[in-house]
Formats: sequence, C-alpha cells, structure tokens
Amino acid sequence: MAITMKTASYKIIRDHDRCIECLVCVRQCSNGVHRWDEDYMCLVSDEAECVNCHRCVVFCPTQALNVVASPLDFKTNANWRKPDIEQIYLQAETGGTLLVGMGNDRPYPVYWDHLLLNASQVTNPSIDPLREPVELKTFIGRKPDTVHFGSEGVEGEFPPQLELDVPVMFSAMSFGSISLNAQKSLARAAVETGIYWNCGEGGLHPEVRPYADRAVVQVASGRFGVSVDYLKSGAAIEIKIGQGAKPGIGGHLPGEKVGPEVSRTRMIPLGTDAISPAPHHDIYSIEDLRQLIFSLKEATEYAKPVGVKIAAVHNVAAIASGSVRAGADFLVIDGFRGGTGAAPLRIRDNIGIPIELALAAVDSRLREEGIRNTVSLVVAGGIRNSADVVKAIALGADAVYIGTAALIALGCHMCQKCYQGKCNWGIATTNPYLTKRVNPEVGARRAANLIRAWAHEIKEMLGGMGINAIESLRGNRLHLRGIGLGPKELEILQVKAAGE
Ligand code: SF4
Ligand code: SF4
Repeated sequence: MAITMKTASYKIIRDHDRCIECLVCVRQCSNGVHRWDEDYMCLVSDEAECVNCHRCVVFCPTQALNVVASPLDFKTNANWRKPDIEQIYLQAETGGTLLVGMGNDRPYPVYWDHLLLNASQVTNPSIDPLREPVELKTFIGRKPDTVHFGSEGVEGEFPPQLELDVPVMFSAMSFGSISLNAQKSLARAAVETGIYWNCGEGGLHPEVRPYADRAVVQVASGRFGVSVDYLKSGAAIEIKIGQGAKPGIGGHLPGEKVGPEVSRTRMIPLGTDAISPAPHHDIYSIEDLRQLIFSLKEATEYAKPVGVKIAAVHNVAAIASGSVRAGADFLVIDGFRGGTGAAPLRIRDNIGIPIELALAAVDSRLREEGIRNTVSLVVAGGIRNSADVVKAIALGADAVYIGTAALIALGCHMCQKCYQGKCNWGIATTNPYLTKRVNPEVGARRAANLIRAWAHEIKEMLGGMGINAIESLRGNRLHLRGIGLGPKELEILQVKAAGE
C-alpha cells in the first residue's frame, strides 16, 4: 500500500541542455525537492515535496527550471473536485485539521473588480498631479465634533492622531509569524514613506525599537510581549479581537518557531507553543471592551489613539457601532481574504464576508447613527493595488492596511505554506539560514517603492476625478459605479449601476 495516496501537485521540468549542474536549486530549496543522486550521477527532483514557491526557478542561473501544475487529474466531476478528494486523503492519513497559509483563495466574487471609478470630462476639469498638488495626507484617530481656530491655529485639546503621508499602512504581522528581517524591512519602509507598520501580537524586538514611533502595537488575546513600556513605545495601540482569515478562533505559533529571540520578545518560555485564545478572557461584552480601551488609554496617558480590530462577519456593522461607542479611536475591519501565517483551511475558506460589503455596511451604519466622524475606519483583507485603495476610500474607509501585498513586495510567491516555517523566501520563517534571504535594506527599498508607486497612481486617479485631496473622496460613493452586480449588492454597497 502506498504511504500516501496524494500525488504530486506540481511537475518540475528541468532542461538538461541548459542545466550546468551548479546545484543552486539543491541549496535554495528548504523542502529538499532537488537532490544530486550519487548512484546515477545526475540531479533528481522529488516533486511530491514541491510547494511551487518558484525559489529554484528564479535563482537558476541558466533558466533551466520550470514548475507547472501537474496535469494528472481525477475523472471530471462537478461535485468532487481534485482538492476535495486530496484533502480527504490527507485527513484519512493524519486525522488532523488541515492548515493553510495566506488568505481565502476560493472563487467568491471580488467586489473591487465590480466597481468602476469616475473621471472628469468637460464640465468638471481634471487635475494634473504633475502640475498641481494632490494631497494624500490622512489622519487616523478620533475627531472632535467642532474645532476652534485662533491666531495660533487649532485651539484646545485635539485627540491624538496618526499622520499618514499615504492612506496605506502595513498590517499586523508578528515577529515569529514573519522573520525579523521581513519585519525590519516593513518598519524601515514605513518610516521612509511616512506611513505606519504594525508589530502584531508578538511584542517589539529590540532591533525594531528604533522604528517604534511609526509602529502600531497590538494587544491580542495572548497578551504576548505586552508591558507598559511596550504600550508607550508605539504610536498607536490596536486591540485585536478578530482576524479576517480566521474569525472566531485564536492563534497558534508552534513551539518549534519559539526560539530564543521569539521567546524573549513575546515574554514566553523557550520552545513552548504560543497559544492566543479565541476570546480575550476579560472581554465578554462591549462594556468589557470599553474597560480595556480605557485601561490602555490610562496606561499611555491618553497620548495615543487606541483602536479595535475586528473580522468582517455577518453582524459587523453592529459590532463596529458598539466598538465606536466603547471608545475606539479607530476601527480596523479585516475581510475574509486577509492573509495569515496559519489558519485551519475550513475556517479560512468558509467564515466571514468580503471586506467591500463589510466596509459599506459599517460606514452606512455609523453615518446613520451620526457617529462616523468620531472614528477612523481602516480596512484590510485583499487590497491588491492602488485602485483597490481608491475604491475602498470612496466606499467609506479612511485608510487601508496591506499585508499580503507587502510580503509579495518582499519576494513572497504565494505558495501558501507559511505555516510550515520553511519559507524559501525568508519571510514566514524563523530559521536563521532562511531568514538571511531577506536583506532588510533591499526589503525596505522594495516595500517603500511599492508605497511610492501606489501614491503616484492614487494621485493620478484622484486628479482624473477632479479631486485634489483624498479627504474629499472619503465615502463619496457617487464616484463609484457597479458592474455585474445584483440589486441587493448594489443596495448594500450604495452605489449606482454603471450607466446610471
Ligand atoms: S539551479 Fe539550474 S543550472 Fe543549477 S543545477 Fe539547478 S537546474 Fe541546473
Ligand atoms: S510568505 Fe513564504 S511561505 Fe508564505 S506564501 Fe509567501 S513564499 Fe510562501
């Protein structure tokens, strides 16, 4: 009987005329796919171990390698598809939950692709951002009902704000789930581009402390790395209630990834599993959430905005409203396409709702209740490019978080095996040999380039719409039109159909 009934998902094609037998592919693959066979004196590949991360393909000096999806399939069947059958084989072998990395990849509608932006023509002139200023500055934090201006500018106390040069931030990715070099790259890029990064629930490693004034520090259910010093070091505090990739469940960093550095930073014993419980054990109501928000504000002398991150679920609008009333200065809503280092496959693929619908529902609800202006809305979970950012802001967001897009800028090739800790690109791993593959200087340059490129594109799109400040676009759904959407979806999004 075969050890496994699952066959290889990928086929490795090696062009032997091009191959110079340099063994780069052997050294680059942490999955042990490529091997020099001493008996046959040739290179062989164990395709069953291949995760299609492209590391060997990119680094092969003679472009001798290619990886393609295996053409082997089961008999065509509309109900029992290949992944369904293979997943049963795996569970029958292991008796365990199926794990996966990155965000929901099922073919649910991507609403960003069903929304079109407006442009000025004749009656409302467009703006050329190369000749006229287009302002992208965005402030994240609670806004007062009225502002008084005196000779010295704004008078009176103004709630603490994060000041972003571009309405994009790097979302929560903890040290442990990603490598220190990856985190350092994002931190440096945030400082360079005038945005913020988020250290996730893994504490602040001493090597990223120099970038802490651009960090959002997270307080999650495991309270890893949380101390008064930690809270005071960051620019803002984010209470993580939920995550789009795994709403309703906690987190689990396996003990193998808890080496000396992670252990020190998270303030947990070496080699122990870091389990974040599903709920915060001190939050069972909006009143409890309010107590935590104000404890954190007290601890940091009301000098930093305190936000709440929730996953986009069915009653997201009501939860958002409660969180605002509980005192959140900013609200983060994470859609079901949000990435993760590890999530149970069934949870990731079947729980939560798309961020586009959640955002529209939350923005509408907060407006109806007259409390939209008291809070900033940050959305996450599947933002892929600058057009998605512009659409999100027109739908009602103040800013977006990007996670997967930022990791792709660092070199991620979306193999979705982050939970294995063997990331060949040195990103989702704490293995010292692999983490060296991310050079923080190069990583920071790439991530900063991405933000700058998006900033240029956002300005061009705003200019085309005749808008000279991103603030003027926020929640302005007249600049959106829906295409290929049903009446109920248009109603929830509160956008007109294209042609209307
Ligand atoms: S990296 Fe390319 S050239 Fe080098 S051994 Fe592998 S396939 Fe051959
Ligand atoms: S971070 Fe690494 S392991 Fe995760 S999807 Fe990207 S390349 Fe794969």
